[in-house]
Amino acid sequence: HDEEAAAKAAAINADSGVPTIFDKIIAKEIPSTIVYEDDKVLAFKDINPQAPVHVLVIPKFRDGLTQLGKAEPRHGEILGQLLYAAKIVAEKGGIVDGFRVVINNGPSACQSVYHLHLHVLGGRQMNWPPG
Ligand code: IMP
Repeated sequence: HDEEAAAKAAAINADSGVPTIFDKIIAKEIPSTIVYEDDKVLAFKDINPQAPVHVLVIPKFRDGLTQLGKAEPRHGEILGQLLYAAKIVAEKGGIVDGFRVVINNGPSACQSVYHLHLHVLGGRQMNWPPG
C-alpha cells in the first residue's frame, strides 16, 4: 500500500529532529484553517478530511513529542492540554455529542507526520473497530 510505504519512509526521519510540515503551519509560513489556538496548542483542519469535521490538534512546541510513544513525565501537562483542546474543537465543530479522537503512533498505525497530533473526527457515524 502507498499509505504504508509513506508511513515507513516518514518514520525513518522521526527522531532526526528535522522540522515537519506542521512547523510551517505553526509559523504560518503555509496556510491552514485554524479552528483553535492558544499559547501552547494549535488546531487546524486536516487537508485530507476523513469525516465532515476532521481537525488536527498539535503542540506548538514539539519538545521531543514526535509521537505519543516518546512521551515522558514532563509531557503530562501538554498531553492534558491537547486532549482538552480536542473537546473545545468538538464543541466548535458542533460534534460534541459524537466524535472520535485518534492518535496514530508509528508506521504500523500509518503515522505520516512526526510531530504529535490528535485527530478529532465527527459529523458522521463512526464505525468500530477502526481500520
Ligand atoms: P497521521 O497519518 O496520523 O500522521 O496524520 C497526518 C495528517 O496530517 C493526515 O491526516 C494529513 O492529511 C494531514 N496533513 C498533512 N499535511 C497537511 C497540511 O499541510 N495541512 C493540513 N493537514 C495536513
